[in-house]
Amino acid sequence: MKINKRECRKFADPGLKMNRNHGLLHAEEVKYIVRTAVKNIGKKRLLVLYIYLREQAAAGNFKPVWTMFQSRTEYVTLCRREDGSTRWSAAAFCNLQRDYDFSRRCAFYMTGDEERVTKFCKRKVAKGFTSLYFLQSDISEKRQRERKLKKEKEIRERMKAVPALPRNIRKMIDREIMPHYLFYSYNRKRTDMEGFCSACKTEVLVTGVKHNEKGVCPACKAKVTFKSRGKRGMIIDRDTLQVIQRTSGNEIVVRFLKRYSQYGDERKPYISVYENARTFLSWDDTGKTSEECYYYSYGNRNSLTPWQPGSRPVFSRWQYSFEADQTGFLYEKNLDKVLKGSPWQYSQLKEFYLAEKEPLYAISYLVQYKRYPMLEYLVKLHLYRLAESVAFGNHYYSSDSGFNPNGKNLKEVLGFDKAHLPMLQRVNPGLGQMKLIKALIHANVELDEELLRWCGDYSISRPENILVPLKHMTPYKLVKYVNEQYARFCKKSPYQSSGYYQMEDILTDYRDYLCMSEGLELDLKNSFVLFPADLKKAHDKVNDVSDKEQALVYDRQIQKQFEEMNQQYHFVKYGFAVFLPHTAKEILEEGQNLHHCVGSYVKKVVKRESTILFVRKASEQSKSLCTVEIQNGELAQARCYGNQAPSPAVRRFLDVWEKEILHAPALAVAA
Ligand SMILES: [Zn+2]
Repeated sequence: MKINKRECRKFADPGLKMNRNHGLLHAEEVKYIVRTAVKNIGKKRLLVLYIYLREQAAAGNFKPVWTMFQSRTEYVTLCRREDGSTRWSAAAFCNLQRDYDFSRRCAFYMTGDEERVTKFCKRKVAKGFTSLYFLQSDISEKRQRERKLKKEKEIRERMKAVPALPRNIRKMIDREIMPHYLFYSYNRKRTDMEGFCSACKTEVLVTGVKHNEKGVCPACKAKVTFKSRGKRGMIIDRDTLQVIQRTSGNEIVVRFLKRYSQYGDERKPYISVYENARTFLSWDDTGKTSEECYYYSYGNRNSLTPWQPGSRPVFSRWQYSFEADQTGFLYEKNLDKVLKGSPWQYSQLKEFYLAEKEPLYAISYLVQYKRYPMLEYLVKLHLYRLAESVAFGNHYYSSDSGFNPNGKNLKEVLGFDKAHLPMLQRVNPGLGQMKLIKALIHANVELDEELLRWCGDYSISRPENILVPLKHMTPYKLVKYVNEQYARFCKKSPYQSSGYYQMEDILTDYRDYLCMSEGLELDLKNSFVLFPADLKKAHDKVNDVSDKEQALVYDRQIQKQFEEMNQQYHFVKYGFAVFLPHTAKEILEEGQNLHHCVGSYVKKVVKRESTILFVRKASEQSKSLCTVEIQNGELAQARCYGNQAPSPAVRRFLDVWEKEILHAPALAVAA
């Protein structure tokens, strides 16, 4: 039976008076005076502690600031605020004040008060406040144990809804997830070498294979890695597998299985498969979903369940933890059945996974699908890279990628007319390539599927890196040349001091080289100049020019751009005109006239990273007014005197120019 708070209120202040001559009332080191009583309240025998502020009592105010009611199994305290209002507190005696030394600032009014406490608390050695402290600690510990037990029982009940793992799971792991090896004994001729296949567990003869080479077993045709018995050490592999199962009408669970295997003895590998985490995903009638995760805790013997709520604690966020990693393969055989009737019935998770069979984090896919239902159509259309960026990227979708997963129809989503769809399906672009395709269309460059596919495979996305070389060569030759350079100069290890990491880095250097070569008026018709054998060297050479020569190169390049592109951007309306600069000097002067930093853009303009345009009054075309920067076919910024934004009149002009010139509808592209 619980303490009856309503009854207790009647006993909150017994109206006790104190003797003004009592020494305690004048003891400076005492902050609180405690008087006690044992009373029957609500059919319960309770110890009552009245706690007074000594200063108030000395001034003749005998209202307790706290009244604590203590039974054998619980305690509760009525707190009185200065204005006389009250509230209940569950704090223990020593925590009534935020004072670590609270009990020592308290004193019993009479020895009888202390004896009453000691007798009630029934501690063997302790007395007074200490005995009260022990009683209350025991009570709160017991409460915590009960709370923990209740939670553990709840978790145990929750886990009962999780069905057994699919029966064929071990087979599937062995066959589809585990890497297999063909161990062989090397001989000099490399012919008829005796081998053993870990997939079909049979003896085979292999010829002409190399250590660590990938291939297929001649007997069972499984994909294997060849391992020379003399060269191999211990082989350790580990992977994660996700299994999704239904736990109720409105809940699924994603289970994370870990597989660890170790080839010491090639015929008797040590293999361990264990489950180490579960995440429940439930939904309500409105389709709103919630997520609850648990991890398997190895060291918790006193618990009713090994499952702990929350995500697995990791040692460091920056260090890889295999146990905490939830990216993995997916058991897809039961998915249709499991997801039927759930919010993910049409999510295409299975189809997406089967397209590549690469490890993924299924929960991210499911959560993102709820936000972007278009994911279904992207997968159905085989636009897997875009689907991937929606399902796993943390993107802010800006308009210049030309891709908007919030769109209501395909045209809104892709930013392209339906006519382009077959081309997009063949290219399988990522977000970066969508931006690239848009820029190519704006520059009136014919879309080459082979080239775009290559850009997708190597995540190439900067339009100028493609546009500049295409002025001088066919897409085929561009891909061929850059592939060759990559094969020769790509970095094989992070410790290599020179070399390229990514295909895009080579393209950036190549564009730079071509822009400088144009400015130097080198003969780009000559294939030795156009395709230097060592790009890095050639690039450094054309950039190593005297200041005087560089100024000349910059001027020529900007002049060339004027001739090439001014037609494309030039526009006159509402008494304003927009055009490209003729020389580097003009850009520097524009910056000086308008007190902004466009002067520092000369190099970027020369290397075609951005395009600078001048907006001026049509009647005063030699007077600076507003400077515009274009990047990736989008207006990046427009600045007037002192970096100010353009006036409404200029703004109106720019709006029309953007619509009619910059964003002119793309020409039809051969589909
Ligand atoms: Zn085999």
